[in-house]
Order: sequence, then structure tokens, then C-alpha cells
Amino acid sequence: MVQLSTGDMLRAAVKAQTPVGLKAKAVMEAGELVSDEIVSGIIGDRLDELGSETGVIFDGYPRTQAQAISLDAILEARGRKLDHVIELEVDEDALVDRITGRFTCAKCNEGYHDRYKQPAEEGACDACGSTEFKRRPDDNEETVRTRMSEYRAKTAPILPIYEARGIVSRVDGMADIAKVTAAIKAILG
Ligand SMILES: [Zn+2]
Repeated sequence: MVQLSTGDMLRAAVKAQTPVGLKAKAVMEAGELVSDEIVSGIIGDRLDELGSETGVIFDGYPRTQAQAISLDAILEARGRKLDHVIELEVDEDALVDRITGRFTCAKCNEGYHDRYKQPAEEGACDACGSTEFKRRPDDNEETVRTRMSEYRAKTAPILPIYEARGIVSRVDGMADIAKVTAAIKAILG
């Protein structure tokens, strides 16, 4: 399956100068938020590019009820549908602790953590040996708390839409990585 992150797709579309990408670029340069319509266009383009045989995981989308409705339309137009919605249940303080400590290899994107997963050899990536690492500027406590309250206000309310379809599964996101992975694999069958 291919992971589709709306942020990554948006940046890629802008870089590739697709019609939708150019529209997004103009909006962002004006300091405005990219509309649902533009995001929908980008997702549709990417799905067409991948073809209907490729499974996808939506990451960071849909975040609002309007986006959930758009996603249904995007998928329906292509004869596709959502098979599973997975809710990872986590304690908010633990989430802040995890997010504020994370960093990745600047070269291969291997993930690390200040407290839970330091490279075996200090300052060098386990996977590729690179000594350059990066952190997301929005991985600070204040931003994470704001994201959580936005999640509660705008995103959590769309779960009942999917619950009514019987496609929501819950996974204990506080378990260790191997357990969470196994639980998700079991759901995806
Ligand atoms: Zn690396």
C-alpha cells in the first residue's frame, strides 16, 4: 500500500507544476489556506496516477466533515471505497512526549527519538550512516496541543460517519511498536 500524506502531495504537486499545483502555489503565496477543493484535486490526481490496483493509506486526511464528504466523492468517481478506518488511541501527554522527541535522518528518513530510540552509534544513522538529522519545526508542545484540540473539535466528530458503516477499528496506540504493527496488520488482513 502507498501512504498518501496530503502535505507531501501538496508540496510535490507545487514542485511538479501541475494545474492543481500551480493553483495551490498561488493560494499559499497569498498566505491563505489551501481549499478542500484543491486538496481533493491533488488526491484525485494521485489516485489516477497510482491506478486502481494500488491500495492507499490516507495520512492526515480527512480532517473535517467536509473533507470526509469530498473523499467519498473522489473514491466513488473511481469505483473505490474506504475499507478500514483505524483509530489509534493514545494518552495525550504521552503523545506530546513522543512527538516533541522525534527526529529523522535527513538522508533516508529513518525515525529516531530523544528518549526512546537513539541511533546505536551516537550521531550516525543506523540505516545509512548519515550524520545529518532533522526535526519538524511544528513538533513543539504548544503546536501539538493545538493540533490535539483541533482533532477533538473537527476530526473526531467524523468518526461516527464511518462507525455507521462498520469500518472503524481501534488500536491501543500506547502499546509498543511491534504490538501496534501486529494489530494494524490483523485489521488489514
Ligand atoms: Zn539514514
